[in-house]
Amino acid sequence: MITPNESKQEDMGQDKERQLRPRVLLAAFLRYPAAMRSYSALSLLRQGLAGHRGWDRAWRDADPASHYDVVIIGGGGHGLSTAYYLARKHGLSKVAVLERGWLGGGNSGRNTQVCRSNYFYPESAAFYEHSLRLFESLSGELNFNVMFSSRGNLELSHGLEELEINRRWANAMTLNGIDSELLDRDDIRRMVPILDLDCRFPVVGGFVQRRAGIARHDAVAWAFARGASAHGVDIVQRCEVLGFERGDSRIRAVNTSRGTIAADRFALCVAGHSGALAAKAGLRLPIHSIALQAMVTEPVKPVLDTVVGSAVIHCYVSQSDRGEIVIGGGADPFNSYAQRGALPTTQDNAAAVRELFPGFGRLRVMRQWAGVCDIAPDSSPVVGCTPIENLYLSAGWGTGGFKAIPAGGDTLAHTIASGEPHPLLRPFALDRFRTGCLIDEGAAAGVAH
Ligand SMILES: Cc1cc2nc3c(=O)[nH]c(=O)nc-3n(C[C@H](O)[C@H](O)[C@H](O)COP(=O)(O)OP(=O)(O)OC[C@H]3O[C@@H](n4cnc5c(N)ncnc54)[C@H](O)[C@@H]3O)c2cc1C
Repeated sequence: MITPNESKQEDMGQDKERQLRPRVLLAAFLRYPAAMRSYSALSLLRQGLAGHRGWDRAWRDADPASHYDVVIIGGGGHGLSTAYYLARKHGLSKVAVLERGWLGGGNSGRNTQVCRSNYFYPESAAFYEHSLRLFESLSGELNFNVMFSSRGNLELSHGLEELEINRRWANAMTLNGIDSELLDRDDIRRMVPILDLDCRFPVVGGFVQRRAGIARHDAVAWAFARGASAHGVDIVQRCEVLGFERGDSRIRAVNTSRGTIAADRFALCVAGHSGALAAKAGLRLPIHSIALQAMVTEPVKPVLDTVVGSAVIHCYVSQSDRGEIVIGGGADPFNSYAQRGALPTTQDNAAAVRELFPGFGRLRVMRQWAGVCDIAPDSSPVVGCTPIENLYLSAGWGTGGFKAIPAGGDTLAHTIASGEPHPLLRPFALDRFRTGCLIDEGAAAGVAH
């Protein structure tokens, strides 16, 4: 039997518990286990209540071990996504990514973010479509908002001859199972009212891939780094590969600014430095390096909700989520390893944009920069196995490899793990320069990127 006193004590205990419960729940809520620390609205709320002091580092900044199953050279998007898929899909976690600077400090963090699969040849279409599909679900896959926005990519035609070529291009896409839509002048006027259709080279039509768009470039590199690190991959920054130790037909180790690191397999993912670094391993590549530049203006209110490209006037433009007008155009017409680009090209790119969008002439340019791109003679990537038994290559992405990051990593990881080229990669093998089976997208699709 419960006495009134006991009942009173019990009531007091329950009151206390009622008072304590929110605090206990809050404490548990803030101390949730590390494994549960996925990015979500709930974790944002939780961290907001805790003053944002509990976020984990997105990836471990590891010290290099002496031996790995796979060493990936280059911490750009391709190196990081290859590491991620090696660990996530193929269970290889003794993997290191060696980056001489900081993650995404190369072209992966310098590009204009366009993602599309509007290529001409079936081989390219199949590969880039795989990549676009991966982009569409990438934020969910990596639990990191890569800000993929399928706002469409419009290619303009400035004369009847170009209209004919663009129709051929759009029809090839349809035959390859990829969305494309031919547009006339009125369609384009409705879609991009700010565009001057009656510019010096009047716009007569065009075509759009509506599923194409942009993704935040840094976020893509960071998302793959976080995913790879969570699967046990060592990410080693400020670690420059200086040379290779060769055994007969294999590479035994790399000499780096942080010591010698041995591995069973190596992958070279160093973009504009592919030719120079491969030469140190004794491999000659048909790749040359050029600077491609871009710039952004001061931010303005939303005026452009699609990507617009013109092969004739030679520029492409989009508006970032922050409101900046993002401008890309031609590459410098000479080889270079300088990450800044030449002034005449900057002027040409600015003039091209003013031609199409006279209103943008009033905007101030906030930043201009360049990245060193690796160009193959047919403007297609060179990916897969090499004559050196345990060296794999991810190169030749040139001015268009950002959109290829998910598929490039997925298919190269398959190739490294199985020793057999992924079916989507077979056409892009290095030996096409011996067999002559080139995939000349530069000629077929005009603008190479
Ligand atoms: C201005 C510009 C605009 C572009 N626009 C687009 C676009 O809109 N859409 C698109 O699809 N593509 C675009 N691209 C191309 C795209 O950015 C690249 O093809 C892609 O990012 C290549 O990725 P990656 O991982 O191969 O190279 P990177 O991101 O350059 O990574 C290579 C890494 O290797 C590291 N490295 C080099 N040498 C060594 C060494 N010895 N040891 C260790 N690390 C080393 C570098 O520091 C670098 O971080 C653009 C490029 C530029 C420059």
